[in-house]
Amino acid sequence: MKIYIDGEYYAKEDAKISVFDHGLLYGDGVFEGIRVYHSRVFKLREHIERLYFSAKAILLNIPMSEEAMIAAVVDACRQNQLENGYIRLIVTRGAGSLGLSPNSCKHPSVIIIANEIQLYPRELYEKGMEIITAATSRNLVNAINPAIKSLNYLNNILAKIEASHAGCEEAIMLNSDGFVAECTGDNLFILHHGVIYTPPLSSGALHGITRGTVMDLAREAGYTVEERNLTRYDLYIAQECFLTGSGAEIVPVVKIDRRVIGEGAPGKVTRELDERYRALTKVSGEPI
Ligand code: PMP
Repeated sequence: MKIYIDGEYYAKEDAKISVFDHGLLYGDGVFEGIRVYHSRVFKLREHIERLYFSAKAILLNIPMSEEAMIAAVVDACRQNQLENGYIRLIVTRGAGSLGLSPNSCKHPSVIIIANEIQLYPRELYEKGMEIITAATSRNLVNAINPAIKSLNYLNNILAKIEASHAGCEEAIMLNSDGFVAECTGDNLFILHHGVIYTPPLSSGALHGITRGTVMDLAREAGYTVEERNLTRYDLYIAQECFLTGSGAEIVPVVKIDRRVIGEGAPGKVTRELDERYRALTKVSGEPI
């Protein structure tokens, strides 16, 4: 494996950053998780745009243009001969002093890891996933806005621990008003009376690239898709529920808080959208 750090490639054992990097000291930095399918980087431009928006929101100047970043990601895939896999793109604040202020960090670091993908077990896609609602609320929009894909993921990790204590892979996070925001690493959708609903970004959800793709695909397939504040009641009475994410793709959910959702099996609409998504990954993306 060859790992890109600031324009150079390093073997895995030699790919190291400073212990004074504020990415490590304070979670001060931003990242993206991107998929590669059939030697194409899926939705690369969308991920790069979000990365630069996240960076702008935390006043982090990425030391290269968006076009240069696109070229670097494609090159990292080439160097690793990646045909199918997962890219972790990270920009840290860089090394500085021990104080909080980012002013001491003069050079942000760009890291690209192009690797194999570690998926949820296949069985979860076939039989559907069981999830819980976490007691940990999603970060406040006015605290660390969940729209910023920052290296500070403790909010999500705390909810993920709750999921794992309950024997689940994922957990739903509510915002401080009690509305559903998203899961720890995936966006959430439901089907009710034939209409597809997902929480609005103002609920405290990440602007998921897969979320956007699935909304487009669903509309193309003739479904009505609405962004609406959802409560746990809405989830419990839904016909279908599924999660979306670059890593996870589309995951059917069949139980929430031990309650059976719909028929208790992956729903028809979920399967149809999954097929459409899969078809898109075969033909779309930035060639390597
Ligand atoms: N929400 C959170 C908190 C995430 O970290 C992610 C990415 N893993 C998502 C949603 C899904 O976003 P995307 O479809 O862009 O991968």
